This record gives sequence, structure tokens and C-alpha cells, in this order.
Amino acid sequence: MKHKKFYLIILFVLSSCFCFSQAQYRNKIFVPDILGYKTLKCDFHMHTVFSDGDVWPTFRVREAWREGLDAIALTDHLEYQPKKNYVPTNHDHAFNIAKDLANELGITLIKGAEITRSMPPGHLNAIFINDGNSLILDNWKDVINEVKKQGGIINWNHPGWRSQQSDGIPKWYDEHSFLHDNKMLTGIEVVNGIEFYPLALDWCLDKNITILSNSDVHDPVNFEYDFDKSGRRAMTFVFAKENSSDAIKDALLNQRTVAYFNNKLYGREKFLSEIFNKSVFFKSNFVKTTGRETAMLQIENKSDITFQLELINEDDKVGYPLHIDLMAGKTVLFNIRAKKDDIKINKNVIVNYRVKNLIVGSDKTLIVPLEFNLDINPAKK
Ligand SMILES: [Zn+2]
Ligand SMILES: [Zn+2]
Repeated sequence: MKHKKFYLIILFVLSSCFCFSQAQYRNKIFVPDILGYKTLKCDFHMHTVFSDGDVWPTFRVREAWREGLDAIALTDHLEYQPKKNYVPTNHDHAFNIAKDLANELGITLIKGAEITRSMPPGHLNAIFINDGNSLILDNWKDVINEVKKQGGIINWNHPGWRSQQSDGIPKWYDEHSFLHDNKMLTGIEVVNGIEFYPLALDWCLDKNITILSNSDVHDPVNFEYDFDKSGRRAMTFVFAKENSSDAIKDALLNQRTVAYFNNKLYGREKFLSEIFNKSVFFKSNFVKTTGRETAMLQIENKSDITFQLELINEDDKVGYPLHIDLMAGKTVLFNIRAKKDDIKINKNVIVNYRVKNLIVGSDKTLIVPLEFNLDINPAKK
């Protein structure tokens, strides 16, 4: 009887374990692969208890997996260790703790650290480093040289952060010219957390600098982002040959990125137009105009980004919708009324729309030509 009781207890413990193991789900973010590259979703800036963050390093990996990210960097402050009485200072610990889980879950974990100085030069992220503890040096220029020696790259974080720029407008200092002239400034955060810095976007475009969007989370991500409202954390889409540290580094060194936050994309026209073209499909752009001039048209958007289109050509306002919201993952159906002149010539008509949430400069959004095939008498075809 004694044995039986023992077995029952074991059985109970085992069944309890199984009962309480909750299934986990990964939310895939659909953005098409473009130009022969994979579109990787990355966040290169976040914190853990090894600086002023409130979470353990493996928690960052689990969050990233659940949110559909492909690669992350843990970038704890080098010069700010408020928990050092409880958590020993070691600038490689966060990476070492998280790397096995990241590996198991297929998340590329990039070793990083945040060089935390007053402005200028402000906060700089060193990523793709191999020894964080060697970066504890007084002179920030020595730190930069050490990063370079380790094969790392430097990104300028939150250039308009109000604690360092009271008006929230980024300023370019001689220190940034020094970094840029010496080819040691790879990227700038155009988006940090929930802030967008328009001027930083123009700098990236003008000076051939990589465009970045990072969360800079300190708490659990869903404490800092309202998933119902913004949908997702700030992240960078990286166009890389594969999901590996080397391929991501190659993409960053060659400006193959787009910043993403709150259903807005910020980046170079060639990437944004490709994302749009590979996401949006006309179910039928053949507009039958026999007997009447209106026709129904369907446009499918296979991506997870809702494209907000606005007609820009005054002349075309007669027959085409002023606004089209191509909702993420949905097909929109609407009527168009072809212009009489267009029908007479029997041609393909190109109608230009502005995509309000595809931002290609501080005061510029992407223009996409939608092509409508008009035919007076399709029966003849
Ligand atoms: Zn910072
Ligand atoms: Zn930070």
C-alpha cells in the first residue's frame, strides 16, 4: 500500500507538470522578401537587469520569439550599472545567459553594449562585438577603436532624446563628423521606442547611413508598447542573404534596412517600393467598360502592413477613389469610373497614389503608380 501511495504522488506531480505547461505561440510578421534577400525583423537595442532593465536576458529571447522577431541584440549600458549591488557587473553575462535559448529558438543573438556618454557624442550602440568587458575605457574614442578592433559596428542611439536635446531635435556635432569621416558610424536610430526623428532620417539618406528603428525596452515589451494600439514594438527590417550574424552585419554595413513602427515604414525608396509591389496584387486590373464606364476592382494586400493610399493627381479625381486603405492581409473591393478620355484612347491608365505611411524623407512619402487596364470592348480580345 505504501508503494501505491508513492506512485500516486509521482503520477500527480507529473500530471500537474503537464497540465500547467502552457503552449506558446509565435506571431509571424508577414513582410515580403525583396531583391533576393530575406526580410528579417530585428531589434538591436534593449536592456536587461545587467544594466537598468527589469528583465532577465532569456526573457528578451522569449519575447522576441513570441513577437516574430528574427534577430536581437542585448545592449546594456557600459557606464550605468544601477543594480550592481545585486547583479554583478559583467558586460558579457547577458549575452552568455541568453545565447543557448536564442540558438534553440532560431533567434540570432548579437552581442552588444550601449556606450553611455553625455552629448556629444551621446549614446552609441556597439554591436557585433566579442568582448564587452574590454570596452570599459575612459576616452570614448578609445572605446570606438576597441569596437572596431573586435569587428563591431557603431550606431547612434536616440539622437533627439529629450534628456540630451531639450527640444527633441537631433543635432549633428563635430564628434559625429569624426565618427562618420572615419567610417565608424554605421547607423542612426530614426525611431527609438515610440519616437521618430525626421531630421535623422534625412541624415541617413544624405550621408549614406543605415536607417534603424529599435525598441530600447527596459521593461517587458508589452509594458512599453500598447499592442492593441501600435501593433508591435519598433523594429528594423533587414534585407539579408540569410538569418545569420554575418549576413545581418553585411546588410547593416550596406544600408539594406527599413525602419518600422506603428504601421509606418521609414526608408529608401527602392526598398519601400519593392515591399509595396511584393505585397499588393490586383485581383483583376482589367476594367471592362463596355456599355458602362464603371467597374469593380479588387486589390489584395498580403502583408501585415496596412497601406494608406491617397490620390495625388487632381485631374484623376473624377473617376478614381480619393483614399484607399489596403488593409493588412485583406482584399479591398471598390468601384472605379474610368474617365471618358481614357476609354476613347483604349489604353493602360496609370493613376498615381501617395502612400501616406511609407516615408522616404522628412517631408516625403512614396508615390506608387497603379496601372488600370481599360478596354472599350473586351469581347474583341
Ligand atoms: Zn540610451
Ligand atoms: Zn538604451
